Amino acid sequence: MAQPAWQDPVLLDIDTAPVPEYGSGSLADLLPTLVAGQGVPGFTATIPELAPADRNCVFLIDGLGWEQIKAHPDEAPFLHSLLPTSRGGAGRPVTAGFPATTATSLASVGTGRPPGEHGLPGYTVRDPHTGELMNQLRWQPWTPPAVWQPHPTIFALADAAGVRTAQVSAPAFERTPLTQVALSGGTFLGRLTGEERMDVAAERLAAGDRSLVYTYYSEVDANGHRFGVDSDAWRGQLMHVDGLARRLAEQLPPRSALYITADHGMIDIPFDERSRIDFDEDWELRAGVALLGGEGRARHVYAVPGAENDVLAVWREVLGEQFWVASRDEAIEAGWFGPTIDERVHGRIGDVVAAAHDDVVITASVNEPHESAMVGMHGSMTPAEQLVPLLEVRS
Ligand SMILES: [Zn+2]
Repeated sequence: MAQPAWQDPVLLDIDTAPVPEYGSGSLADLLPTLVAGQGVPGFTATIPELAPADRNCVFLIDGLGWEQIKAHPDEAPFLHSLLPTSRGGAGRPVTAGFPATTATSLASVGTGRPPGEHGLPGYTVRDPHTGELMNQLRWQPWTPPAVWQPHPTIFALADAAGVRTAQVSAPAFERTPLTQVALSGGTFLGRLTGEERMDVAAERLAAGDRSLVYTYYSEVDANGHRFGVDSDAWRGQLMHVDGLARRLAEQLPPRSALYITADHGMIDIPFDERSRIDFDEDWELRAGVALLGGEGRARHVYAVPGAENDVLAVWREVLGEQFWVASRDEAIEAGWFGPTIDERVHGRIGDVVAAAHDDVVITASVNEPHESAMVGMHGSMTPAEQLVPLLEVRS
């Protein structure tokens, strides 16, 4: 609907964006807190509610946000039993980080650092050395992993300190660059089914007096993208993963803490022109843009040199009622990527960053046909995609 001529559009103030709680309640705080409790030197517990345990297990469910768990008590009875009640309880939400996307979040978990430090600040970002987009999830084009993300993982540091450390995930992930930069250190065990992963995770947890085990399940996210959150397929996956979490919880060896978390939540985007703005068909948004990075709900926009201010002005005017539209400096200043930005990471962030506030996405029908056709999406700072569970089971 067109705005009446006498009414100015109300642009979203970027200071109203709910910035992730880096340093006190974000995914990057989880492993440092756990290994601090295990006596690994150099770490402090920044999530004080988590009591130390000798054996720590993290089960990361891809795409299962806090709000989605709360909305589905019937499909997830076990996970629901771990939510806080009026009588108390340990479960709480934490913030994923910005953008709320898998590559970024896995790096935040594994390095214990916010995106501004680990340097995977999006689904695709520009490599300042080549000027090309780099897909961080698929690692295309191939880029030297240890140069792109040079910080040691928490797993490697814990392993070196004598904590028995393992990752139990899909066999295909064993040698990927993303695993190398985010999740390596200790022993990687590839298992095809969720059930096998839960059983092996419990075994590995028992294998040391002090142990740290990470395990992962991907299909809630995959079905959410394809069919939408709340589709029958998605609900079926939620029921399945609820059973997996219970299976792992029931096998915990003594002196263990299990943390069930996720990398981001998800929301469904309607299939209409107002909700899906196609960058590839929009001459106004494309003017002065050299590269479009990120993903539908969290865009990095790289301008042709000299056009940065014009692109910012147009994007803010066209999208500013539905997106928080910030310049690179404004996004950094607001803390979207964390309190500090490593030198090598600065140029990976867009000249303009657009984070969705409403149920909308910026698609790219020509360059991203697969991603643009997805039903469920994520990436921004709204509670449905930003808040992830931190549910606890102790033995
Ligand atoms: Zn996803």
